[in-house]
Amino acid sequence: MKASEIRAKWLKFFESKGHKIEPSAPLVPHNDPSLLWINAGMAPLKPYFDGRVVPDNPRIANSQKCIRTNDIENVGKTRRHHTFFEMLGNFSIGDYFKEEVITWAWEFLTDPQWIGFDPNRLSVTVYPEDTEAFELWNKKIGLPAERIYKLQENFWDIGEGPCGPCTEIFYDRGDAYGDLNDPECWPGGENERFLEVWNLVFSQFNHNKDGSYTPLPNKNIDTGAGLERFASILQDVDSNFDTDLFQPIIQKTCELAGVKYKQNEEYDVALKVIADHIRTVAFSVGDGVLPSNEGRGYVIRRLLRRAVRYGKVLGMDKPFLYLLTPIVGDIMGVYYPEVVEKREFIERVIRTEEERFHETLSDGLAILAELVENARKEGSNQISGPDAFKLYDTYGFPFDLTEDFAAEKGLTVDRDGFDRSMQEQRDRARAARQESESMKVQGGPLADFTVKSEFVGYTELVTTAKVI
Ligand code: ATP
Ligand code: MG
Ligand code: MG
Ligand code: MG
Repeated sequence: MKASEIRAKWLKFFESKGHKIEPSAPLVPHNDPSLLWINAGMAPLKPYFDGRVVPDNPRIANSQKCIRTNDIENVGKTRRHHTFFEMLGNFSIGDYFKEEVITWAWEFLTDPQWIGFDPNRLSVTVYPEDTEAFELWNKKIGLPAERIYKLQENFWDIGEGPCGPCTEIFYDRGDAYGDLNDPECWPGGENERFLEVWNLVFSQFNHNKDGSYTPLPNKNIDTGAGLERFASILQDVDSNFDTDLFQPIIQKTCELAGVKYKQNEEYDVALKVIADHIRTVAFSVGDGVLPSNEGRGYVIRRLLRRAVRYGKVLGMDKPFLYLLTPIVGDIMGVYYPEVVEKREFIERVIRTEEERFHETLSDGLAILAELVENARKEGSNQISGPDAFKLYDTYGFPFDLTEDFAAEKGLTVDRDGFDRSMQEQRDRARAARQESESMKVQGGPLADFTVKSEFVGYTELVTTAKVI
């Protein structure tokens, strides 16, 4: 079953249960300073959940574009994580509750008319005190008790506000993906066998200022399921990257690089990272985020540069990412027309940014080569902090890149020294700002130039982000 069919089935199923279908919101949150990116299907619907806005229909379903940069290190390593993915969701704003949502989830997953998973492969986790959810799975659905795991972490609570227990549904991918004797091999453990497909959150309490919990008068349901994960199961492939959502991108990259997929582990990681990052970058640019040195723009710049560096692993020394943009459009355009409509713009932005980075790379690399040579002459096996900082500050050469290249030559880089130079630079900028009236005008951007060379997590406040 193609991913686009799965998405369509989801929407049709929930429509048949009286839900209104909401289109995906843009990746940039609207009026929500607590989020850098939309990271879940529920995020753009918050005004309904906290009662600021009353929806026409209390039942809503969607397929929402999401970005989770906190999963970046997992990309290419696990079979199931992306920085950009689609979350399928169904929501009840003070309408239906546990019984309906569990019953419908089971129907959608196991009825051959919809997804048709083998029911014997499904297991769930519940919050230990949520006997109601346990009973529903066990008595109403008929799931054997040994396939219902009680998990303390199954409680959604982000501090003050609505919160509650959740129940998560896992698909057992079978012996080839993990040995049941391994203590981590169960639905709550670190393994690739039990694939988490769907999270059902029962928002039934209010977490009060004083730390107490009181039942909410209007209980809500918030669910999220990963489209790419459904696709990997339904297309009977090893990982999300082997589905029709990623394969055309990977194949095109192979063609451009003259390599083959699944012949070399290192190449495969690079191909997956590139396929992942190009989706994130293309969609964000399509939603108006431009590469820059702060906030969201910085996340995009880092992702794009990271993809370029993985391109180098495949031997690609000139811009190529922009050539993948039309493929993203071909795959996703059916549901997200913006990637097709804005294709030329997205391509231009990506190409320009790639070209700039290549210039930076070649300038920086020449200097780095000299630094390595000098270090060797002096009998040192380390690049100094101030030298690494100069590369960063003058040539825009990211620290981790310096580190990677140094490592290839058997050298390390002095991170503490780099951080100290960065701090000195900040102090100087601040002092200069205070001294000179004319500098005050440019003070902000100048001081901000020494941004941290780390990914800004999706939880970071937008106060650091450029407002677009
Ligand atoms: P995991 O434990 O696999 O990291 P999660 O518990 O962090 O997932 P939730 O926050 O519960 O995920 O999100 C709801 C659903 O969205 C998940 O059950 C999964 O199907 C999907 N999902 C979450 N994060 C990702 C991701 N980075 N890439 C692809 N799909 C994801
Ligand atoms: Mg996660
Ligand atoms: Mg999880
Ligand atoms: Mg989860």
